[in-house]
Amino acid sequence: MRLILLGPPGSGKGTQAKLLSERLGLAHIATGDILREAKRLGTPAGRKAAPFMDSGQLVPDDLVNEMVADVFRRDDRPEKFILDGYPRTLAQAAALDPVLRQQFLNLERVIVLKVDDEEIVRRLSGRWICPQDQTPYHTTNNPPRQPGRCDVCQTPLVQRPDDTEATVRRRLKLFHESTEELIPFYREQGLVREVNGSGDIESIYGRIVQALQPAS
Ligand code: AMP
Repeated sequence: MRLILLGPPGSGKGTQAKLLSERLGLAHIATGDILREAKRLGTPAGRKAAPFMDSGQLVPDDLVNEMVADVFRRDDRPEKFILDGYPRTLAQAAALDPVLRQQFLNLERVIVLKVDDEEIVRRLSGRWICPQDQTPYHTTNNPPRQPGRCDVCQTPLVQRPDDTEATVRRRLKLFHESTEELIPFYREQGLVREVNGSGDIESIYGRIVQALQPAS
């Protein structure tokens, strides 16, 4: 399966992408994670991206397109994958197209997770991440077994600098302005399935898996 998971920040994309990747054996390609790692390592791309990321803006298309194209140019490129947080603009979708075509990797599904803005603001203020492996937690919806520590490696959890309310609202505005345009773009190709992103993690996962089934 080759799919794109689209949804506003805080829609649970990262959590669901991780589950799909583990359970269905798909490579999880998350541009946000790749960028945060580049920023942490202080690479040239990471240094360029940092001010955009911290203020909740989109990183320039060229930089992200190049990073994703790199993943598909490598000898160990994935054949089955889930793209999480990419593409986010029409220009990115247009850049992705020839990269995948060149490798004969056609997209099979675009899942759109639907969650309303106010619920997202509530969710993100409770979001905590393991700085080691990026596992996301939530103080009420998905708490770690031991408060404040990662279940896997016990590293103290941190909040992302872009999860403050003002920044979250800016990121939501960007989603409505730039990323939502992708829905009609992929709908025309018959790839889009909308999934209700409210409720517990396993229910949402079940709905996504159902939406991955071929149309009958
Ligand atoms: P995410 O973890 O997907 O919410 O991404 C965190 C931040 O990384 C975003 O707010 C952007 O600044 C940047 N970013 C991630 N993916 C992209 C993308 N496809 N295009 C532009 N910026 C991105």
